[in-house]
Amino acid sequence: MIEDKNQPRTSLSNLGEFGLIDHLTKQIEISQPSTIKGIGDDAAVLDFKDKKTVISTDLLIEGVHFDLAYMPLKHLGYKAVVVNISDICAMNATPTHITVSIAVSNRFPVEALEELYDGIKLAAKVYGVDIIGGDTTSSTKGMLLSITALGEAEADDIVYRNGAGSTDLLVVTGDVGSAYMGLQVLEREKQVFQVNPNNQPDLDAYTYLIERQLKPEARKDVKAILKGLDIKPTSMIDVSDGLSSEIIHLCKQSSVGCNLYEEKIPIDPQFINVTEEFNIDSTTVAINGGEDYELLFTIKMEDFDKIKGNPNFTVIGHMTQESEGINLITRANTSIPLKARGWNAMSEEG
Ligand code: ADP
Ligand code: MG
Repeated sequence: MIEDKNQPRTSLSNLGEFGLIDHLTKQIEISQPSTIKGIGDDAAVLDFKDKKTVISTDLLIEGVHFDLAYMPLKHLGYKAVVVNISDICAMNATPTHITVSIAVSNRFPVEALEELYDGIKLAAKVYGVDIIGGDTTSSTKGMLLSITALGEAEADDIVYRNGAGSTDLLVVTGDVGSAYMGLQVLEREKQVFQVNPNNQPDLDAYTYLIERQLKPEARKDVKAILKGLDIKPTSMIDVSDGLSSEIIHLCKQSSVGCNLYEEKIPIDPQFINVTEEFNIDSTTVAINGGEDYELLFTIKMEDFDKIKGNPNFTVIGHMTQESEGINLITRANTSIPLKARGWNAMSEEG
């Protein structure tokens, strides 16, 4: 973490555990009708009436999942919430609540946790979820952050990974690969990068990529868009580990194969420029880079006309019989088996 000598630094021991919890959570308000009791008792109380509840948790560890040298704490808080909300959206559910658990060493001042919570609270506001509890404890080294997200959905609306049919179309929202290239840019700039990326004029050519890495958004909008088009996906997953890896999850769980078409994969012009600058193959990054938090789903072939030309969606392939395997069809029209090289595998290869 970059320390500014002019910033006030209040030691965590000044507040103590209860003082800290109170300090961080005192302004939190609830807005979901399903919240009966939020922060302040031994447990939160929720009432989802006749809806189903979906729950997802992530644990983030400093040095493993985030690096505070270029990840400002406010962004970390925001992103930690977003990645969990993305999982709820990937069930075709509506995110409603989060809990926040943190462990920090006394190297962090109170102000640092305020910054983290500014990001958490901002994301909660943007996505309309209530912060209803959590846990606060100390760690001997570094920071751990765990967010649990809850959501609600009608039973009939929930979409699982295992429903893809062998003639379904494969669709992705937005574009892919940019978050990974954003990380590459940030790692390159790590030495000179200051806490506020906006003050770095030499990063102008990378703003979209850096934003995709530091401030990703979950596709909470997609559920309503699909409903409006009268489409229910047959299977769905969010793109956290990379397109290739997520396609393999859908195929394995649905017992189908897939042809993914290289020329159809949606990528941003800035992404193309920067892969050229880094001398990396853009398709390799687009299919293996992770953290895009777009939604990947399958639809029935007869729904194609409903989605055709919609700027939110790109049809990138189609499912096949399981025996045909999971393949990338290149621009040269050759078929290459897709491998699940997640984001980590790719960075290990350097
Ligand atoms: P307990 O001893 O029962 O675990 P705590 O004193 O840890 O209770 O927590 C008191 C209240 O504050 C609970 O409602 C808990 O959910 C909430 N809380 C604790 N830590 C956090 C946090 N980091 N963010 C949000 N709420 C928290
Ligand atoms: Mg506790």
